[in-house]
Amino acid sequence: MTSERNRKRLVDRLMEEGIVDQRVLRAIGAVQRHRFVDEALANMAYRDTALPIGHGQTISQPLIVARMTEALLEAGPFERVLEVGTGSGYQAAVLAEITDQVLTVERIRPLYQRAGRLLRELGYHNVRLRQSDGSWGWPQLGPFERIVVTAGGSQIPEALREQLAPGGVLVIPVGPSGRQELIRVTRQGSDWHEESLGLVSFVPLVSD
Ligand code: SAM
Repeated sequence: MTSERNRKRLVDRLMEEGIVDQRVLRAIGAVQRHRFVDEALANMAYRDTALPIGHGQTISQPLIVARMTEALLEAGPFERVLEVGTGSGYQAAVLAEITDQVLTVERIRPLYQRAGRLLRELGYHNVRLRQSDGSWGWPQLGPFERIVVTAGGSQIPEALREQLAPGGVLVIPVGPSGRQELIRVTRQGSDWHEESLGLVSFVPLVSD
């Protein structure tokens, strides 16, 4: 089956799972997920599952990528987003299909380098990458309308709350490795409103 047909089937599956935002479904239908995994795993790339990408890390499950992206969009459209945890670069590519500028931070150098090369090769010139500890955000470029964190920590890093623009939204898994609650934080003036979006399973957010 062609990768295009596989993507169409994945989109159908995400719709069955309750994803409704057409921008998210179109983006998942457009990004070549098989390019973001090792060639040996390419035949599994359009299954709705997380897959290993080396260095003990994973490319997230498409349903979770879709849910997190939808959670960012529910507060309205946005032009710029910060992602913490570039990993393979897949979530960054999905966001790049939807918005003008994606900033993404990865702490593991080889993953940062590989994702950068691939995103450039695939023509995602609206993604800017940085290698660093993303728990500190990207202070020079903040504040951000949206922040999404694709690794889970025991608490929400203060720097990320502070780098939210007024009305901005942060989506982050919080809790022990492999069993976290997905939290959406909305900044309202000097208040931060938190809501739970359900349970998820992410690799740990590692602070240096
Ligand atoms: N968004 C990724 C994708 O689409 O492939 C999935 C990423 S994987 C589940 C989580 C990533 O977060 C890993 O690559 C890990 O190295 C990275 N990470 C963990 N702690 C981090 C930190 N403090 N700063 C930046 N990246 C971090």
